[in-house]
Amino acid sequence: MIDVTLESVSKRFPRAGDTAAVDDVDLRIGAGEFFTLLGPSGCGKTTTLRMVAGFYFPSSGRIRFGAEDVTNRPPNKRDTGMVFQNYALFPHLSVAQNVAYGLKIRKVGRAESTRRIEEALGQVHLAGYGDRRIDQLSGGQQQRVALARALVIRPRTLLLDEPLSNLDAKLREETRVEIRRIQKDSGTTALYVTHDQAEAMAMSDRIAVMESGRVRQVGTPQEIYHRPATAFVARFIGRSNVLDLPVVAADAERVTVALPGGWEVPVAAPADHGLAAGATALVSVRPEHIALTSATAEGALTGRVTELEFTGMATNLLVDVAGEPVQVAAIDVPAGLGVGDQVGLRLPPERMWVVGA
Ligand code: ADP
Ligand code: MG
Repeated sequence: MIDVTLESVSKRFPRAGDTAAVDDVDLRIGAGEFFTLLGPSGCGKTTTLRMVAGFYFPSSGRIRFGAEDVTNRPPNKRDTGMVFQNYALFPHLSVAQNVAYGLKIRKVGRAESTRRIEEALGQVHLAGYGDRRIDQLSGGQQQRVALARALVIRPRTLLLDEPLSNLDAKLREETRVEIRRIQKDSGTTALYVTHDQAEAMAMSDRIAVMESGRVRQVGTPQEIYHRPATAFVARFIGRSNVLDLPVVAADAERVTVALPGGWEVPVAAPADHGLAAGATALVSVRPEHIALTSATAEGALTGRVTELEFTGMATNLLVDVAGEPVQVAAIDVPAGLGVGDQVGLRLPPERMWVVGA
């Protein structure tokens, strides 16, 4: 097991103007860790992964596997296993022949290859499938063959780029559990790329949230969910309301803000919040943490329901509070509540958090 370090890594493509696809990224992925790059399309996830794989070389910065500097080393000298969205399997070859691919290149002998192919197929729960043709397998099985092909070379790092995107929703959830199990069993350091925040949360030890080529936050799923660093991260991970609220007082750990209607509440803030009385704070509060109450309740915000949608697990409401739309997800709503009705919203200060712009 090795750790992977990116130090001030940037990538500029020729003819792509001044904007960097990846801009000054610092990351340290621990040995055996399941680490995910998460962000919207075009934010630089694949480019970062391809630099770790060696398919692209950084314009500046260093990449290390353990103490070894691999920045300019070609892909076949890095001991990485890659898994892609489209599987990239050879359809005319059998399962075993596909898995054998990396062993052939490495000139591993026949007996050893047979043993390792069976072992890799066992790891992905496809023991005995070696003679099947690729087109006789389901999408989920094909993706597990791709995983076996990556694992059979016993890579030092496993690199996965949106490997579940071609699977339907149910299979995606099953396969993500499988990938996580296989990675933990093999102990391989994994770098995983996805734009799907639920997938990232469910699978990862830690996540780096990327936007416009930059890493905006690194943390465990819990840290990123409960303590988003910026308004972008708050909105991208799950759903969040980010309210502009006037600051009436501030100290090192807390900022007291005034809610519409005049109620003042203390809200936790990161140490470097830099806010003082008179400034405006961005405060994140999740829809599921807002409670519905009567429009006249003390300390509650009052607003008018503009949208209401029953999803089974919860009812999602959009409530207009003094011109600001506030999202609310409620398990229970008063019988007969509908669009146009006045409601009260209770925002729990302990669930609110000051974010950066
Ligand atoms: P993601 O995987 O997060 O969707 P990418 O890493 O593929 O994003 O792309 C990041 C940015 O770099 C995008 O603006 C994309 O258009 C650009 N880009 C990616 N690959 C190339 C390339 N080979 N040549 C020029 N621009 C590229
Ligand atoms: Mg991509």
